Amino acid sequence: MYVFKTVKDLQNYVANNKREGKTVGFTPTMGALHEGHMSLLKVSKDNADLSVFSIFVNPTQFNDEEDLKKYPRPIIADIELLEENGCDALFLPSVEEVYPNDPQPLNLDLGALDKVMEGEFRPGHFAGVAQVVKRLLDIVLPDQLFMGQKDFQQFTIIQTMINQLEIPTELVVCPIMRTKSGLAMSSRNVRLSEKGRKEATLLSKTLKAAKTKIDSSTPDKVEKWAMKELSAPGFEPEYFTIVDGHTLQPIKEFSDTDYVVACLAVWLEGVRLIDNEILKS
Ligand code: AMP
Repeated sequence: MYVFKTVKDLQNYVANNKREGKTVGFTPTMGALHEGHMSLLKVSKDNADLSVFSIFVNPTQFNDEEDLKKYPRPIIADIELLEENGCDALFLPSVEEVYPNDPQPLNLDLGALDKVMEGEFRPGHFAGVAQVVKRLLDIVLPDQLFMGQKDFQQFTIIQTMINQLEIPTELVVCPIMRTKSGLAMSSRNVRLSEKGRKEATLLSKTLKAAKTKIDSSTPDKVEKWAMKELSAPGFEPEYFTIVDGHTLQPIKEFSDTDYVVACLAVWLEGVRLIDNEILKS
């Protein structure tokens, strides 16, 4: 696997491959890679001739200095894992390489998409995410972009950005990878104790149970029930919101849309965890 630290070197490599007629699949990450990320690599390898990953802990999407400082950065293990799984190239830039000038905000109309859920609790987060993904897409110019359903609001916002800015890249969304116990894999899970990781299965259990309730209840009642479940000792839920998966806006009845998704964010042992489940599609 090639590892490129500069924009110029990566661009040369991609351009040479494109000249040979190869298609390019791109997966942006913040590192601390796990099987969830590897599932994206697998889909990339199945779809594109060349699979490029990036590892960049983007400072502009963190609204919490502590979270940025504590973000795990096991770069040697990450490179090994990518190599073992057949990644072709890794882009590993510095902050200066990604933002040679002061980061400029994008002129995007996200409407209400970034006002709810993550957008409400992490102000400025999606402006930073859109900014870094746009910059990385400008550098890599991939045919396909691979992202996880794990970050439901994120991929919806990136799809909106791609549409609005007419970026010629296809977004491919990949399913959530979970441990056997149901916990959604996340780079932040390494910050949980073993006990915490066991307890955190409450998140997926609550989502699964919510799914069984949609024929006999209302979104509002299910949300209230779930918030109570997620208020177990040690847990601090931020939100459990049932939305229309197209607009990300809360719904009044389950029949309001053909695409119903429940999304949640919960604090456990000082770690912020998110998860979601499609209740109807
Ligand atoms: P991150 O490194 O957390 O920014 O994630 C990079 C990409 O991997 C994002 O598109 C995530 O949605 C995706 N991802 C993270 N965790 C998982 C998971 N458990 N299953 C599938 N995709 C994931």
